[in-house]
Amino acid sequence: MEEKIELIKKLNVDDSNFIIRVYEALQKNQIAIEEKKKTTTIVLKKNLKTKEPTIDLDKIDASPYLYTNMRRSLERIIKQVKILDKSEIEKPGYTQKVLFEGEEQEITREGTDLAEVMKVIQNQKITLIAEEINEESLFKEEQIKYAEEIFAIKSIEERNKRIYEIVYEYLKKDFVGNDYCDFKDDRCVSQRNNERYPKSKKNGCCFNGLTKCGKLRENGECVVKCMACRLYACPYLTKRGIGYWAYEIPLLKAFFSKKQRGYLVNTFFKKEESILKRVNRYSRKNHININ
Ligand code: SF4
Ligand code: SF4
Repeated sequence: MEEKIELIKKLNVDDSNFIIRVYEALQKNQIAIEEKKKTTTIVLKKNLKTKEPTIDLDKIDASPYLYTNMRRSLERIIKQVKILDKSEIEKPGYTQKVLFEGEEQEITREGTDLAEVMKVIQNQKITLIAEEINEESLFKEEQIKYAEEIFAIKSIEERNKRIYEIVYEYLKKDFVGNDYCDFKDDRCVSQRNNERYPKSKKNGCCFNGLTKCGKLRENGECVVKCMACRLYACPYLTKRGIGYWAYEIPLLKAFFSKKQRGYLVNTFFKKEESILKRVNRYSRKNHININ
């Protein structure tokens, strides 16, 4: 695989660079899993001694949140790299075959939906148990801990703010951190490929109307933390598998209603504070998401 990756790097065109980004994103994910293993509080079932209440992570289904549309697309891309022979790499059409062909893995669902568990977890002392400590059990642990943190916050406004912060930071780390927009001289990959934007335009989709969005700072930082902008991926990227859906994010699914999620997804160019104002208004007293 490493040899193939080196050859793909040498192609040095937008699509080959994108494949490298995908490969590196999945590798970063593996490193993060190893890091989480060092601090996990999950108790292996074979070592369980406590009489305290337990949650069996193996009975929880996290597949729609872990194996999201995007994750499955990215894995399909890397599977294609593995399947195709290295002699194909320099032939025309290689990146197209990698990016747009091959089968995505189906997800199988078994157990109680993770978001349903998160809605009722409250802030109790519960031991999390699992047969194995792996990506799935660690992901469930992380989300359940978030839910406990949210339930420990008394005010609805503060809860919603914390949910917003956690999700926004996750999206920023994933989307911006993996640099899928691949800016060069202020023009993103979509603008360079002339999809949707005239070649003269700069600053990606922060180019709002005739000028760049006033909330964009010189260093490329957005000052308003707008969730819709963070969730957005343009058609150029979605065609290549990049995209976030609010219903695939456990905290949004568990604690926000469909109406709140819809508002978050569609309210562009606004400040976090004003978005949260409306989200708070929609919040139900018991803070449970009813679709
Ligand atoms: S999401 Fe926006 S900035 Fe990123 S590549 Fe697409 S148009 Fe460009
Ligand atoms: S509000 Fe949206 S369009 Fe404006 S700078 Fe922030 S991310 Fe870009």
